[in-house]
Amino acid sequence: MGKTDNYRSHNNSTKKYRKTGAIMTGVLLGVIGVASVITIANAASDNMKKTPAAPEVQTVAEKTAKETEEVSKQAEETSAAVPETEAGDVIAKATLMSKQYDYDGAIELLKAQKTEDAGGDIDAMIDDLEKQKDSLVATKPEEVTHVFFHSLIVDPERGFSTGSDEWNRLTEGYCQWFNTVDEFNKIIEQMYDRGYVLVSIYDLLDIEKDADGTEHITTKDIYLPKGKIPVVLSLDDLSYYHAYDGRGIASKIVVGEDGKPVCEYTDSSGKTMTGEYDCVPCLDKFIEEHPDFSYKGAKGTIALTGYNGILGYRTDYLYRDRDNPADDQIPWLEENQDFDWDKECADAKKAAQAIKDDGWTFASHTWGHIRIGDSDMDRIKTDTARWKETVEPLIGDTDIIIFAHGQDLVKWDEEYEGTEKYEYLKSQGFSIYCNVDSSKYYMKTGDGYFRMGRRNIDGLRVWQGVYGDTNYIDDLFDAASVIDPKRPTDAYMYE
Ligand SMILES: [Zn+2]
Repeated sequence: MGKTDNYRSHNNSTKKYRKTGAIMTGVLLGVIGVASVITIANAASDNMKKTPAAPEVQTVAEKTAKETEEVSKQAEETSAAVPETEAGDVIAKATLMSKQYDYDGAIELLKAQKTEDAGGDIDAMIDDLEKQKDSLVATKPEEVTHVFFHSLIVDPERGFSTGSDEWNRLTEGYCQWFNTVDEFNKIIEQMYDRGYVLVSIYDLLDIEKDADGTEHITTKDIYLPKGKIPVVLSLDDLSYYHAYDGRGIASKIVVGEDGKPVCEYTDSSGKTMTGEYDCVPCLDKFIEEHPDFSYKGAKGTIALTGYNGILGYRTDYLYRDRDNPADDQIPWLEENQDFDWDKECADAKKAAQAIKDDGWTFASHTWGHIRIGDSDMDRIKTDTARWKETVEPLIGDTDIIIFAHGQDLVKWDEEYEGTEKYEYLKSQGFSIYCNVDSSKYYMKTGDGYFRMGRRNIDGLRVWQGVYGDTNYIDDLFDAASVIDPKRPTDAYMYE
């Protein structure tokens, strides 16, 4: 078990922790990971009580939402007034850029167009954008909240189903760690309505390199219209583990006809289809309809392990070598005797590229979903090497590591400098480190690193928001109007 004192949580919930431990036995590694994350996050209720309430923010946000709508309307009218010309295209593009808060980019584009095709509309638009830009408000990176989700349950009947004792025990995990597609869509809609805007974690920092390659990290403020609230988002364990089979969850991410990532999903009758069956395509669709939910096209960061492959593709060496499989890998290997591992890797790479082209970034979640705080150096080195051999070639380089089980290299209030684990991971190219923290904000930096805490948004948090003593998420959304009517509500499922 992990050491609870490693974390920011003032952990007095030993009982809960033990219970989680019992649930975890026999659950697949990836799903196990989520369990202690939640216990750890759950324990910091003291922090949450100090968290300021959200009402003022909402009021300002609502006001700004209206203003933004008006601005968008103006821009659309301007755009509509221009005939289908090159200037019209430029205006449409600049309008989208400004909706996503890239005022400099939009102004630059319009100025370049103006020299060739001078027009009053363009002048007026530039003036308007300059004004909007001047009225932006700075948010400090240490006041940016970071939320994360797991994969979504498409079919709650199967996700929360009952069966054998063993199955029922696992169902508790699905209740606690997963949201349904309907819940996710409502959460995003409500966050948008309250003024939240997705920003990339990279929007919060700059990394400068000396000639010898030494990195220096500095933080930077983010500028948004008054009332807009920046939020960073990440997704954990997007590998569609074998353990998800039979739970009404998507099975993989594929590239759609339009080149965008979509999910493959098999319904209870065995029919396979593609569409918006998990966070990636759901969020993409929402941003297509509400471009101002994304700062400069930012989406989120996807944290990947490697032991079951990535994104639903069975790309680990184990599937190639068929050597010493885990129990839940054996049936898959038996059913896929003619499996072409090279093609699987090529397909995974294509899906990963489509996801990146769409505005997402990738992070390591460690290959084996390891407990980084508890692991010795040998384990960390072996694990990192395997991740770099089997995952990185498919997704490209990344300097972000999102620790599993909510663990961290040191305690939340300790420094990384001089620790063997940090020096090693830094030497392997990692500069951005994320843990789990139930408080609204946690950020800490050193010359070579940027650390950020993340809040779990899941079934437990939604249930607590409706039936629990503490609401951890009321700054983000209203749990009562989000909770899936098919979600079991018995307290024992969540305690
Ligand atoms: Zn995880």
